[in-house]
This record gives sequence, C-alpha cells and structure tokens, in this order.
Amino acid sequence: MAHINPNFNNLPQNYLFTDIARKVSQFKSKHPEINVISLGVGDVAGPLIPEVIDALKAAADDMSRTETFHGYAPESGYPFLREAIAATDYRDLDISADEIFISDGAKSDTGAIGDIFDLDNIVAVCDPVYPVYVDTNIMSGRAKNTKDFVYLPATADNSFVPELPDRPVDLIYLCFPNNPIGVGITKAQLTEWVDYANETGAVILYDAAYEAFVETPGVVHSIFEIPGARTCAIEFKSLSKTAGFTGMRCAYTVIPKDLERDGKSLNALWSRRQTTKMNGVAYPIQRAAAAVFTPEGQAGIKKQIAAYKENARTMREKLSAAGFDVFGGVDSPYIWLAVPDGDDWAFFDELLTGAGLICTPGSGFGKSGKGYVRFTVFGEFETIREAMARIAALYQNA
Ligand code: PLP
Repeated sequence: MAHINPNFNNLPQNYLFTDIARKVSQFKSKHPEINVISLGVGDVAGPLIPEVIDALKAAADDMSRTETFHGYAPESGYPFLREAIAATDYRDLDISADEIFISDGAKSDTGAIGDIFDLDNIVAVCDPVYPVYVDTNIMSGRAKNTKDFVYLPATADNSFVPELPDRPVDLIYLCFPNNPIGVGITKAQLTEWVDYANETGAVILYDAAYEAFVETPGVVHSIFEIPGARTCAIEFKSLSKTAGFTGMRCAYTVIPKDLERDGKSLNALWSRRQTTKMNGVAYPIQRAAAAVFTPEGQAGIKKQIAAYKENARTMREKLSAAGFDVFGGVDSPYIWLAVPDGDDWAFFDELLTGAGLICTPGSGFGKSGKGYVRFTVFGEFETIREAMARIAALYQNA
C-alpha cells in the first residue's frame, strides 16, 4: 500500500485566502448591486507591453516552421535570455550568464531551493512572511511544524527590517522589497546580513521579486551589490511584477560560482537539480522575456511600473489623509496599514461591508502581521481613485 508523505500532515492550515473568498462571496450575494474592488491579491492589471507581444508572436511564427522550430529548451534557459539578463539587470555587478538559471517562477524556485540543502539545516524566516518559504520546508521535513523556524520579527519597532537572529541559523530567507510589508532594505542593513552569513556559513535566500519597484537611493536592488554576497547568497527574481508576467511565467535565480558549502558548488548542485526535475521554460516565453531586456522593453516596463507607483502615491496620500499610519508603497507595490484598534480581521470586515473593498489581513502572514492589513497598488488608476474615495467617505467622521 502506498503511503502519503506524512509531512503534509504537518502543514499549517492557512485559511487566509479561502476565508477572504468566502466572506467576499457572501457579501456579493447579499449586495449584487455593489461593485466590489479588490486591493487584496498581488496580481498585475496588465496588459503586456507591445515589445513583449511582438516577440511572443514572432516566436509563435518560429514554431510554425521546421527550420526555426524549437523543441525542449535548455534546462537552465536559452543563452540569449541568460546573456540579456546578465547584460541588463547585472550590468554593473559581477554576475555572469552561467550563474543565471531561467525558470517558470520565483514561487517554484524559492519553493524548490531546499532540495540542495541538508534537512538538518535550521531555517530563519521573517515574520510576517511569504508562506511559500515555510510550507515548502515543512513539506520536505526540514521543519516539523511552524514552531521549528527561527522567526525574525519585522515590526514598527525595527522599521520593518528584522534584526540578526539571536541563535544559530543555516538558511535565511529574506525578501526585499518585502511582501507583505512593502519596505525595501538599505545597503547598510543588508551588509550586516551578508557579513553575518559569511561569518557563520549560513546561506541567504534573497527574494527580490519586487526589485523593479525600488526607487529610493541607497535601497538595494540586488544582494550582489553588497561586497561578500557572492560567497553567501542566492537571489530570486521574477518578471511577474516587473513586466506583468504573472500569466506568462518566467523568472530567474542567480547562484554565483563562488558559493560553496561542504566543498561543493551550489551552482553545480542547482544545475543538477534543474536538469533532473525541469525541462526548461517554453521558447516563446523566453523570447518574450528577452524583449523585456532590450532598451525599448526596459523603457516600456518602467512606464508601466511608474503607473503603479502613481497608484501607490495616491493611496498613501489618501490613506494618510483618512487618518491611518501607512508604511511601504514607495519601493514596492504593497502598502502596509496599521489598523487603529489592532484587529485586522475586524478592519477587513469593516472595509468590505462599509466600502465594498477587499484588503488582506496581516495576521494571515504571521504573528507580527496582526494589527495590519496589506493593500496592493495594482489596478487601473480610476479604480484606485474610486477605492480611496470610498475609504474617505467611510472614515470622514471617524
Ligand atoms: N516571491 C514573492 C515574495 C512573491 O510575493 C511572489 C508572488 O506573489 C513570488 C515570489 C512569486 O513569483 P512568481 O510569479 O515568479 O512565481
């Protein structure tokens, strides 16, 4: 008889998005006349930039002719895309094309990276946290349950950038700009982490999925800006939010060749893992992704991101004017709002029933998320304006 992987029994029951969906559907069936606006889920509003669409169509044409047809892609990505990323994202940094692995998502890669590490490693995660890091370590058995992690609280007291752990850890997941909090990390702050990892032999798993939103001088775009990162860090990047690729699926993971543990190259181990478990990302998607790294593509995505940032600016302004303390939303597409009485689920209900708006209660991301809600800034400007007008009306007499 087959048995299931018992680690799945240890997964936390995270009802966050199902609870939200249930409450929203109940509300909609009671109030079909209300146009509910969602600022809850972190998905882009589209559409893709013309350069990407043209490349996608041209690649589809390639697939229609024997002489330009492409079958299996190289497991780690086509050289044309790896080289374009090295020459664009890592232009001023010491990263080469063969240190960049193309994949179908930062979710897949942050979830799978644990394959190359010992199950005895102790894992540190920020609190609040993107749940993928926690759940995948429980699935593999590295952690028996949520108590097995070393949590690094990100709170108003530390300006939402955690302090170094107070006990030994081996793997450290850091996400900056952060989801859900929406703040970036400065070079000085990240240098402390890189120094710590090099001193202790820990490895930093650095999720930079929201890097393209960074605008504040001194806030880090890539961990490889920090001296010493090549010997202690892996970086995850994604075109999902950078170029509206959530429905296209293309991301990349950077593992420097100098990064070794137990005398083994982590770049070589990941390559071995990918060639075993993955058959590459579709050729048309990689062609479309490469269009993002042309000068025209870069200009196109910057314009799109600027529009989301205008949403963020408006939201920060209107939410502050309505009397709330807001954080984030400058170097990222997330705004973190402190709920006045600290009950984030009650605030969620109040916004839904009083203004037809959906946000995400912070306690769904961890203990330190309690008392906050997350807003995403993705959406049409008019929709964002309407959402903010509803909040202003709801709280004008508060
Ligand atoms: N990492 C973080 C922190 C995210 O918030 C997300 C998406 O929400 C991802 C990774 C997933 O990215 P991708 O769409 O490339 O799988």
